[in-house]
Amino acid sequence: MMDDPRMPSQAGLCESCVNVQIVRSDRGSVFYLCRLSQSDPRFPRYPPIPVIACVGYQVRLKPDATPEGS
Ligand code: SF4
Repeated sequence: MMDDPRMPSQAGLCESCVNVQIVRSDRGSVFYLCRLSQSDPRFPRYPPIPVIACVGYQVRLKPDATPEGS
C-alpha cells in the first residue's frame, strides 16, 4: 500500500493540537476540523494548512491518542 502524500504531517500545528478533529472523506482526502470554530468565530472550521501560528493551539499531551472523531 502506497503512502498517501497528504499525510497529517502537512498540517503544521493542527497535527498535534488538542482542538483538531481529523476528517477523512470517502475519497481518502484528509481534512482538519478545528473544534474551536464551534465556539469562537476567529477560527475557521477547516483552517488552511499548514497552520504555522495559532492562538488557539494547545499541544496534545498524549501524542498516541487519535484526534479522529467517532
Ligand atoms: S486551534 Fe489552531 S492549531 Fe488547533 S486545530 Fe484549531 S486551527 Fe489548528
